[in-house]
Parts: sequence; C-alpha cells; structure tokens
Amino acid sequence: MNYRRDKYGHELSALAYGCMRFKRSGGKIDIAAAEEQIMAAFNGGVNYFDTAYIYPGSEAALGEIVEKNGIRDKIFIATKLPHYLIRNPEDFDKYFGEQLSRLRTDRIDFYLMHMLTDIATWERLKALGAVEWIEKKLESGEIKQIGFSYHGGAEMFCRLVDAFHWDFCMIQYNYMDENSQAGKRGLKYANSKGLPVMIMEPLRGGRLVNNLPEEARKIFENYRVKHTPVQWALKWLWNQPEVTCVLSGMNTLEAVEDNVKTASETSVGELSEGDLEMLARVVSAINSKMKVGCTGCGYCVPCPKNVDIPGCFAAYNRRYSDGWFTSLKEYVMCTALRTNSAAASNCVGCGRCKQHCPQGIDIPEELKNVRGKLEGPIYKIARKAIKLFRTY
Ligand code: SF4
Ligand code: SF4
Repeated sequence: MNYRRDKYGHELSALAYGCMRFKRSGGKIDIAAAEEQIMAAFNGGVNYFDTAYIYPGSEAALGEIVEKNGIRDKIFIATKLPHYLIRNPEDFDKYFGEQLSRLRTDRIDFYLMHMLTDIATWERLKALGAVEWIEKKLESGEIKQIGFSYHGGAEMFCRLVDAFHWDFCMIQYNYMDENSQAGKRGLKYANSKGLPVMIMEPLRGGRLVNNLPEEARKIFENYRVKHTPVQWALKWLWNQPEVTCVLSGMNTLEAVEDNVKTASETSVGELSEGDLEMLARVVSAINSKMKVGCTGCGYCVPCPKNVDIPGCFAAYNRRYSDGWFTSLKEYVMCTALRTNSAAASNCVGCGRCKQHCPQGIDIPEELKNVRGKLEGPIYKIARKAIKLFRTY
C-alpha cells in the first residue's frame, strides 16, 4: 500500500474504504460479507474508513466489525455530522454522541460537516454555536481532525476552504470532473492552503465503469498499456500529488483486492503523457454525448440571481451521460440543498453571464432547457421536502 500524509504527518492509506455501499440482503447489511471485505482491505494496508450518520446501518456495522477484530487503534475512522438536521445547539452533542455509540468508540479521527453546500449554510451553523462546539471537541480529543465534504462548484468550494481553520476536506473528483464540481482548481486551492483532500466518487458512482460509451471503451481496449477502466480512473487520481485518500465504495472481495493492488502499484507522476492524452480522448468521447459544451471554467459566475451556471450545466449534461436519476440528484444537490436556491429557473435573462463565456454558450437559452428537463414534478417535490425538513 502507498501512504500519503495528513496535516499532522499521520500516514493514511492512499486507498480509503467508503462504507456507503456495503452488500445488503433483505434490506440489512450483510455483516459477514462486510467483515470479510473490511478485513481484506485492512490486511492489504487500508487504514482509513469513511462512513456517515445518514448511511443506513453503516456506522453500526463498521463499529461492530472494528470492535470484534480489535483494530480500532490501528485505523482512522471518518464520519460526518448531518448538520442539516441540526435545529438547536444541543443537537450537535445529540448526533455526535449517537455516532460514538454506533461506532463503539470514544473518538472520531476525521469528522466532517456532511455536504456543506455554501457559506450561508456554514453561517447558519456558526449561529447555532458550531465553532465553539468544534473547538471543545478538538480540545477534548473526541474529534481529532475537522473537515467538510462538498458537492458543488469551485468558487463556493474555495470560499468554504477559507471560512474556517479546517484540517482536511473531501470533494467529488475523477477524470470527468477535472473541470466541474470543485475540480482541479478546487483541489489545488485546498492543497495550497495546506489541506489534505479526500476524494469521493472516483468512478462517478460506477458510471466510469458501467456506462461508458462504446467509443470510450474502444479507446481503452486499443491502448498499448492495458488496465481496466477502474484502474485507469484510480491511477489518474493517485498520479496527482494533491490527492490524499481516494475513497472506494467496495462491496466485493474482488473489488477490494483489485483496488488494493492498484493503490499499491501507483505513485505520483506515474502516468505518461501518452496515458494522459489517451484519457483526454476518453473524456472527449464521453463529452461528445453531452448537450452543452460547458467546461466548468466559472468565468460566467457569480450570477446576480445566484444561478450556479456551471453546476446546472454539469447536472444537465449528466442526464445524457449518466442517466436521469444521477442528473436529478446532482441538480438537487447543487441548486436546492443550498440555503439560497441556485436553480436555472432563477435566471431572468439579463445576459450578463453570456459575454464572459469563452465557449460562446447562449447561457440564458440553455438554462431554459435545463429548467425544462430538470425542474419537473420530482424536483419540485424534493425542493419542498428539503425546505420542510431543514426548517430554516
Ligand atoms: S442571464 Fe441569467 S444566469 Fe446569466 S447572469 Fe443573468 S440571471 Fe444570471
Ligand atoms: S463561462 Fe461558459 S464554459 Fe465557463 S462555466 Fe460558464 S457556461 Fe461553462
């Protein structure tokens, strides 16, 4: 296994175990299978295990397996606060206490604000006493390091990086998201501020494996160096020095073994120019299925009506590359989960953004298409539910 250092010099395995996708049978986590896979990863050198309050059964399963095998002091546990459920200052302790109990531990090594969407959300948490609560937990040692996970554009991500003295952060990143989501810009920015960056969705929820267009598949097949699409996607990440841990939601023994092997064999700067050029062709092949040629550069934002223009186009494009569900999920996350809506329907057609777009995209017109495709009845229900749920 290769290891990369956190802010305080601890060695973290380059491959991290994402505990979101444990195998289930009859709706419940198959503990025996999860244990076998977790211990195979541990024995292969994996020492970072990531879960969250809202992953059904995941914290409890991880806690049970870790305790049974006596490995608590040999691993790092990362979990996430469901801050969107917090309504008063006492709730911080309530959820955190429940997490310690589920995980059968007295401390969380890496604790994240789960899906911190924007500055307004962070301000809301601060008003509820988040900063004082975090400081207290860091001082007592119940939380070792504090960070946040993020889905959204680079600009907001950079603002969040600067909003607190975080120890680390986590972003969605893969070769298709080099210029969308926080992207390479966000990765480099966080790194320049001394933050280790954990990576989620390295395979874009499996889409970079299962739903590759035929042309992209052929590029991999015909390339002189032979790796599977999974291996290429992971190698692309570990090739970059700014990447700390890559989370993989492994739920078969074969996936564990393959990922461990790839992590052990890949180091920074390993990919050749030819490899990167081949991957760029794969990206083009996938992008050719896209509707709007937005590169995610962000020159068009901020919009006076708060439209997350690159986020809207990324989610819209995903409808054609990844399917409607992924597209809608991403659209909800980047527009409706924010304290102030960033939806395409906010656009009033002022045209200010259009003059800044190097791709010559007719942004207001394309936003109408986004609204038409993504703001249907399901989106509206989700938006209402989020409003009711968060009560702020
Ligand atoms: S045209 Fe729409 S998206 Fe562009 S700046 Fe104006 S309101 Fe924002
Ligand atoms: S300026 Fe154009 S290409 Fe860049 S993010 Fe905005 S719409 Fe996309």
